[in-house]
Amino acid sequence: GLELKNIVKNFGSVEVIRDVSLAVNDGEFVAFVGPSGCGKSTLLRLIAGLDKPTGGNIVIDGNDVTDITAADRGLAMVFQSYALYPHMSVRENLAFGLENTKVAKAEIEARIADAARMLEIEPFLQRRPGQLSGGQRQRVAIGRAIVRRPDAFLLDEPLSNLDAELRVSMRTELAALHARLKATMIYVTHDQVEAMTLADRIVVLRGGRIEQVGTPLELYNKPANRFVAGFIGAPH
Ligand code: ATP
Ligand code: MG
Repeated sequence: GLELKNIVKNFGSVEVIRDVSLAVNDGEFVAFVGPSGCGKSTLLRLIAGLDKPTGGNIVIDGNDVTDITAADRGLAMVFQSYALYPHMSVRENLAFGLENTKVAKAEIEARIADAARMLEIEPFLQRRPGQLSGGQRQRVAIGRAIVRRPDAFLLDEPLSNLDAELRVSMRTELAALHARLKATMIYVTHDQVEAMTLADRIVVLRGGRIEQVGTPLELYNKPANRFVAGFIGAPH
């Protein structure tokens, strides 16, 4: 499991994350929702180990990883900005980071083929990211996380750049992937339908604090306040 214990993050004198505590079970699908600037990406970066909290602790499977580097946390992050390597082909982007590991060549190829099929990026494997549309890049970024078979995925608005049709099909693919890999997923989204349909639990953030945590049904039926109700699309 993953535990956030009283996480605080300051940028200069600005408190961006304010005393966030949360326990995520292994294999759970948790969605972070909340307005722009509420700290969703910052929280993901802290979990990933790309940034250090100003206060509090991050615990993975009982081990305090607050001072452990990103590479040693067994997580894979899909960034809001994709962060692909521009000088590498899509195939190379997918394989990067797996090539000098214990994973066999044939296994790497099989994982790439699997991810490419699922994400509908087979036709682009030889292209560079600069030769792709935003939505195609976004799918490559998801693919790069998938081929690593991490214990947990940290996904920052992974479908935000897709058209409505692709979004729905990718939503289904992500649900299937989650069922198949049984990996933990922490999923940032602006899309309440995505959160309601994919997540086991939804975390509503506002101003760096958790406003409410619950299953989609709990938040819908018993929103803690008008803000949560508004965000979830519940009657209020
Ligand atoms: P969005 O939905 O727009 O992606 P978000 O919830 O992901 O928003 P964050 O990117 O986590 O928001 O930012 C939270 C707050 O922290 C914002 O006010 C942002 O301006 C600020 N912030 C983020 N990164 C830094 C930084 N490196 N230095 C200073 N302030 C930062
Ligand atoms: Mg963000």
